[in-house]
Amino acid sequence: MVSNKLGEEIMTNVAKFDLDDNDVVVIIGSGAGGGTVANELAQKGVRSVVLEAGKRFTLEDIKNSEWEMFMKLSWLDKRISAGGWHHSKNHANLPAWICKGVGGSSIHWAGVSLRFKPHEFKMKSTNGEIPGANVADWPITYDELAPYYDKAEDKMGVTGTKATGMPDLPENSHTKLHRIAAERTGMTFSNAPMAINSVERDGRPACQQIGFCMQGCKIGAKWSTMYTEVPKAEATGLCEIRPNSMVLKIEHDDDGRATGVYYVDENGVKKLQKARIVCVAGNSIESPRLLLNSASKKFPDGLANSSGQVGRNYMGHVTGGVYGVFPKPVNMHRGTSVPSIITSEQLNKPDRGFVAGYTLEVLTLGLGFLSAFLKPGSSGWGREVSEALENYKNMAGVWICGEDLAVASNRITLHPTEKDQHGLPVPVITKTDHNNDLVMRNHAYAQMAKLYKSVGAVKLHNLPAYPNSHNMGTNRMSEKPSDGVVNKWGQSHDVPNLFISDGSQFVSSAAVNPTLTIVALAIRQAEHIAKLVKTNVL
Ligand SMILES: Cc1cc2nc3c(=O)[nH]c(=O)nc-3n(C[C@H](O)[C@H](O)[C@H](O)COP(=O)(O)OP(=O)(O)OC[C@H]3O[C@@H](n4cnc5c(N)ncnc54)[C@H](O)[C@@H]3O)c2cc1C
Ligand code: SF4
Repeated sequence: MVSNKLGEEIMTNVAKFDLDDNDVVVIIGSGAGGGTVANELAQKGVRSVVLEAGKRFTLEDIKNSEWEMFMKLSWLDKRISAGGWHHSKNHANLPAWICKGVGGSSIHWAGVSLRFKPHEFKMKSTNGEIPGANVADWPITYDELAPYYDKAEDKMGVTGTKATGMPDLPENSHTKLHRIAAERTGMTFSNAPMAINSVERDGRPACQQIGFCMQGCKIGAKWSTMYTEVPKAEATGLCEIRPNSMVLKIEHDDDGRATGVYYVDENGVKKLQKARIVCVAGNSIESPRLLLNSASKKFPDGLANSSGQVGRNYMGHVTGGVYGVFPKPVNMHRGTSVPSIITSEQLNKPDRGFVAGYTLEVLTLGLGFLSAFLKPGSSGWGREVSEALENYKNMAGVWICGEDLAVASNRITLHPTEKDQHGLPVPVITKTDHNNDLVMRNHAYAQMAKLYKSVGAVKLHNLPAYPNSHNMGTNRMSEKPSDGVVNKWGQSHDVPNLFISDGSQFVSSAAVNPTLTIVALAIRQAEHIAKLVKTNVL
């Protein structure tokens, strides 16, 4: 390989595998989960084909513009939102904010990289049965995952961790305001651990504090599989990436083993790629949708769905925003999008009136997103929104990231009649907040009011949730096949050579962002798959 700029390598030994090659691992999706599995397998000598529905972007495509990048990167195929949450009214066709492109949502993401706490793997044994919820323990513990968290932090380059030894990103005025407020109110405050280079590392530059991290980082300081895992996998000559390739169905043989996948290529031609193993990493709406769309005579309720759990237990986070207006300028837009975090409420303390916990992440929204999310669904901006925008430079804000409980009826199903451009049923995302979510959100709003009043806020804006950027739980892990879809390796209980490699295998959502855990699980899964391949078990 001849390498010049990030994401623009000129490959000289790119693999090209035959459609009939039934010895390759087929990976569906190239985001945080799929891109990582592909690279980890390639580094271990395992051949793979990555089928990615979206196009391939370069750093040239990234612009410092919120809406332009949203339109360019997002998965905008029709989705229908149902149930009692506010998205079914205010974001009826876009309940989730997920990307389509080589790199998946890791192009758009902000980079916050926090570990789950040990108790967050044990929701059921910590809190017992919770009426109206379907909580369970993970079949793995924090201690089992800890070495893979180390590896993920190293791979992604997470600031402030032992794994990298990289210093925190510099403190901006948005952080200073929250640090002072936390000191005054006794809340626990720290710089956020970010998968963003604070110094040059792994062939990528240090962050220049430009902002616009959630539009794709123009210089590649933020980790994204787009210009890390994917080109590294390709450089081995063992991984072929096929962009603009939407997978329609997973095929299986009479013994119930996956044999290949049907997909539509960049020219709209339907093809069958044979496979030794299939890894599904399409994020938590498309992954269960694909399994449901792969129903057959042998698996009439969908592939890998003997438990009936495919598509169920859909979780985002209990979320919302609080933006305060202050007497003097804060200029929150200067610097990384999420510079710091308040963790006092992350613990499980049921005496607050709810189980599980939440974190408060300092989050910059630009003028474009702020105007869209302040009063979604209202007609016109009105005085409150226009006044807020006039005061933009005096604003500071946080995003609530609280544990969303697994509820069986919160789920992904297939619409009975509506079809997408490929003739596949459109997914219906049904979700209603559990009462625990409502109590937790109100608690967070109250804590934020206390925090912001301590530093002289003159006005507070409570924002409802924007479309789910964290999506989890629709193909969950379980010890027993009757309770979930995959085992502790992400391997289907029903179809031994089928793996789930994304956040849909999560059992709980925790009070932190999911991607570090997705990557840790992907590294661990790839190690397991490589062993099974090398010993011919699969
Ligand atoms: C604005 C924003 C900010 C975020 N900030 C953070 C953060 O700070 N910290 C954090 O931890 N997380 C954050 N996230 C979430 C994070 O991006 C996701 O958790 C993570 O990328 C999920 O990884 P994944 O592999 O499951 O899916 P994705 O990264 O979404 O990748 C899935 C890929 O699969 C492809 N695909 C889907 N279906 C098919 C199909 N049938 N055929 C072929 N390809 C298919 C899609 O096109 C996509 O490229 C953020 C997300 C957004 C949108
Ligand atoms: S602030 Fe840093 S990480 Fe964010 S987009 Fe700019 S350079 Fe990239």
